[in-house]
Amino acid sequence: MIFEPTALSADEEKLRDEVRGFLAETLPPDFRPGLGLGGRHDPEFTRTLAQRGWVGMSIPTRYGGAGASTVRRFVVIEELLAAGAPIAAHWIAERQSAPAFLRFGTEEQREWFLPRIAAGECWFSLGMSEPDAGSDLASVRTTATPVEGGWRASGTKVWTTNAHLNHFAAMLCRTTPQAEAGDRHAGLSQLIVDLADEDVHVSPIPLIDGEEHVNEVVLDGVFVPDERVLGEVGQGWAQVTAELAHERSGPDRYLSILGLYRAFVDVYGRDPDDARAAAIGRIGAQLWTIRQLSLAVARSLDQGEAPAVEASLVKDIGTTFEQQVVEALRDAAGGEIDPDGPTMFDRLLAECVLNAPTWTLRGGTTEVLRGIAAKALTKGS
Ligand SMILES: Cc1cc2nc3c(=O)[nH]c(=O)nc-3n(C[C@H](O)[C@H](O)[C@H](O)COP(=O)(O)OP(=O)(O)OC[C@H]3O[C@@H](n4cnc5c(N)ncnc54)[C@H](O)[C@@H]3O)c2cc1C
Repeated sequence: MIFEPTALSADEEKLRDEVRGFLAETLPPDFRPGLGLGGRHDPEFTRTLAQRGWVGMSIPTRYGGAGASTVRRFVVIEELLAAGAPIAAHWIAERQSAPAFLRFGTEEQREWFLPRIAAGECWFSLGMSEPDAGSDLASVRTTATPVEGGWRASGTKVWTTNAHLNHFAAMLCRTTPQAEAGDRHAGLSQLIVDLADEDVHVSPIPLIDGEEHVNEVVLDGVFVPDERVLGEVGQGWAQVTAELAHERSGPDRYLSILGLYRAFVDVYGRDPDDARAAAIGRIGAQLWTIRQLSLAVARSLDQGEAPAVEASLVKDIGTTFEQQVVEALRDAAGGEIDPDGPTMFDRLLAECVLNAPTWTLRGGTTEVLRGIAAKALTKGS
């Protein structure tokens, strides 16, 4: 396992300054930052960003993207997440769906979807989890059966983030019954489902903070034409696993708390007592270290490596760190939670306390990631 130390080049630093300048100009003075990944769904912001070439940055220029390196994309998303910018509309499409089309899609699919994603006009959800298939994803029960010209998919997906707002979802479906497929990881396929189809029923799953951005999605015999099968029929497991690698290790895994940390420093940082000074120093040092690990993963992706285990470890360390920060800052501030308190710190602390438990679940739970890392580390020992 290698985390090669790396720094940003002068050119990459220049890009950072550009993004900072753009955000200072674009976000209103009374902007309420979201919690990193929890940034709002704002189609206008997404389109404005896309006009700058900052959506789908890694998509090759021939498909309408910027053909940028992983590190340049890292720089842009780090700034967006640090500002709590409203990135939810394009987030999944640009982080996961675009790389999946590039790797597994047909030329026709690339030509149709990628320019729209890069323009910030085509938004995706992830259709993996089901009521009885979360960590154990291979037990999905949504089935797709072959019909003239395509497939009919039936089943229920849950936790489908922003399915009520997005256009499509890559749904993991069983296309060969397990008894016939033999290996339980075989016989799965990814179908691109149009979320506006009349045979798709989306209803919200309210979360503890009152937000309704995750959904139950019922596929009621929805027709999916052959041209909307992503990759090879029966290869869904390998594809989804590859896709999940894009979901781990990025700045989204440690920046949810940056707004809270900054707000704490604003309130208590001028003349901190020893305990608060220690919290500020410790969290800053840890944040920077995790950031360097995440940057090292991005750089090694640019060098053509496949740091899947390193990515799993960064997600584990990053999301566990985020949860610890919430508790540490809450203690350092005196322990009270008051969502209507006078400061930004009060508001963000209340939001973080309600949201933090989800940070180690999304994209694979901590236990599952540790299993992946342990298997890789003990291989051959
Ligand atoms: C806010 C939020 C948004 C989400 N968005 C999406 C989305 O857009 N699309 C989507 O498809 N999914 C989404 N998910 C679902 C997420 O991926 C799952 O919640 C996650 O994979 C865990 O599955 P589960 O909830 O069924 O828990 P389970 O798999 O039932 O796990 C329950 C507990 O058991 C532990 N556990 C399970 N198996 C093992 C094992 N083998 N070894 C040790 N411990 C184990 C887990 O770590 C966990 O603590 C979202 C979840 C959240 C919270």
